[in-house]
Amino acid sequence: MAKIEHIVEDCIGCGACTAVCDNWEMGPDGKAHPKQTELEELGCNKEAAEVCPVGCIHIKE
Ligand code: SF4
Repeated sequence: MAKIEHIVEDCIGCGACTAVCDNWEMGPDGKAHPKQTELEELGCNKEAAEVCPVGCIHIKE
């Protein structure tokens, strides 16, 4: 089980995570949000964490 933590205060709303992973979407607040935070498989969320320019996506496996 993988757990995703998003430090939403640090998100600059660049959309990079949404471009590489369909578990991420932009919210009305102009920031990205994960659709699911607990997943059996990390999948593209690993890539989302890697491309985030401010490092606000954290993954715990
Ligand atoms: S890549 Fe990071 S800073 Fe950019 S929208 Fe996603 S979570 Fe926010």
